[in-house]
Amino acid sequence: MTATAPREEQLWSRCAGCATLLYRKRLRRNLDVCPECGVHVRLGAPDRLRQLTDPGSFRPLPDRPADVDPIGFVDVVPYPHRITAARAGTGLAEAVLCGTAALGGHPAVLAVMDFRFLGGSLGCAVGELITRAAERALDDRAPLILVTASGGARMQEGVLSLMQMATVSQAVAALREAGLLTISVLTDPTYGGVAASFATNTDVVIAESGARMGFAGPRVIRQVTGRALPEGFQTADFLLRHGQVDMVVPRRALRGRLVALLAATRAGRAPATVTQRIPVPAARPAVPRQPDRGAPGPTAADPWATVRLARHPGRPTSLDYLDAAFDGFVELHGDRLGGDCPAVVGGLARLAGRPVMVIGHQKGHTTAELVARNFGMASPAGHRKALRLMRLAARLGLPVVTLVDTPGADPGVGAEEQGQAAAIAENILALTVLPTPVVAVITGEGGSGGALALAVADRVLMLQHAVYSVISPEGCAAILWPDRSAAPEAARALRLTAPDLHRLGVVDEIVPEPAGGAHDDPDATARTLGDAVRDALLPLHDVPTATLVRRRRQRFRRFGAAGTGARTGAR
Ligand SMILES: [Zn+2]
Repeated sequence: MTATAPREEQLWSRCAGCATLLYRKRLRRNLDVCPECGVHVRLGAPDRLRQLTDPGSFRPLPDRPADVDPIGFVDVVPYPHRITAARAGTGLAEAVLCGTAALGGHPAVLAVMDFRFLGGSLGCAVGELITRAAERALDDRAPLILVTASGGARMQEGVLSLMQMATVSQAVAALREAGLLTISVLTDPTYGGVAASFATNTDVVIAESGARMGFAGPRVIRQVTGRALPEGFQTADFLLRHGQVDMVVPRRALRGRLVALLAATRAGRAPATVTQRIPVPAARPAVPRQPDRGAPGPTAADPWATVRLARHPGRPTSLDYLDAAFDGFVELHGDRLGGDCPAVVGGLARLAGRPVMVIGHQKGHTTAELVARNFGMASPAGHRKALRLMRLAARLGLPVVTLVDTPGADPGVGAEEQGQAAAIAENILALTVLPTPVVAVITGEGGSGGALALAVADRVLMLQHAVYSVISPEGCAAILWPDRSAAPEAARALRLTAPDLHRLGVVDEIVPEPAGGAHDDPDATARTLGDAVRDALLPLHDVPTATLVRRRRQRFRRFGAAGTGARTGAR
């Protein structure tokens, strides 16, 4: 074989579905769908854009992704090396391609994710690029089409990757307010933080044939439940059957369906309110730690030790705080759609004489309590109950206080059937625009999207020995290290402690704990927490609603541009 002869594997490829040997050009002509069995081969972003847009109409947005390594993450390989390899392997700068284009003559802004680039993971640069695409749609008064393909948040960027769920969601919220159509096209696979934000909080959700979408991945669910998964679990048809997508569309009909949607919504009247885009705030200067209530003691403790403290069964729960730090708690139950989740508690209470709505994850101290509360892992009903209470608070003009203590959202089969991803996504979006003050306190474990579903707030407080992370150290170790026993190393790499997150600007204030930890003196901890929440709420009471919401959105917009502002603090 000479150097110029085409190699055998470039001419032919074997179908993963039916094992037929296919002539590559024939497969291409068929939009990379197997002509024999109909399997949809995964597409890179450039191919996807070629298939969807009018020829020659695509104009990439000028934004270049920043080089981001906000927490200096190293597993067995430094994170920047993984980025370099992904760029070399794909020819792309990041895991998303954004631009303007026409579809059947209709203008639109598109953001298309590419799974080949680090599993399409959502990091700060990806969040920023998609946010800018949404802002371009707002400026152009054009619809936004998001094509998703992602394993979830990019854990090498720690909790800042989690913040991207809020950053992009608030950009989607701005398009909602402006009366501009948003469409997401779920392609295989779409999971985790992407599924639980902009993949599902758009106006129209389309699943491409063969796509799978869910909050928790099948491997995690099998591990947690110890059971085999039902046939067809999380597939496009499953999603349609469970009311989670508007339609399932085969690849050859996708462009036509998008054109029809754009045509059908084009004549819509602009709404009365004109939404303004949120300006990108300047990189955040390091904020000095609040000196009052005594600075937390030396925190040279190993992060893994902090993880264990955060999970201590003697730690006060949300109901303990409601009892000791608040007055007159009246618990409200139910999501009004068919369930009441025991892992989330909420209701009306008073703090320092002022009425507030308190919503928190509920764990327990004994095994029986923990089991009854599903270990503080909220179901979709729990997230929808929280959403109902947030909206009720807004109607009554009450501030919202959230108490976050969860290993993560419920990763069960039932939770997926009931739309866990969309339930989380809707809470995150609702909180970015809620017209009332919101103060969140990470009291124990702030686990991933389940934590963020209650933690998009004007002020985010964190107990000294709490942790807040995009993934559990065990989960991170299982993926990036040879095995789960590397969890202590992963805990160090993830920067999940209160001082780390305070430096990164994710947390505004650290609430000190008694010497041995919150479980040593729950009452003292509750008093300190109550005082801290009262003080955080005080300056928010008189802020006009529009200003309040704008500042909250800026707070989370900042994390899109993050890298730069956060980088110096992490070293
Ligand atoms: Zn086939």
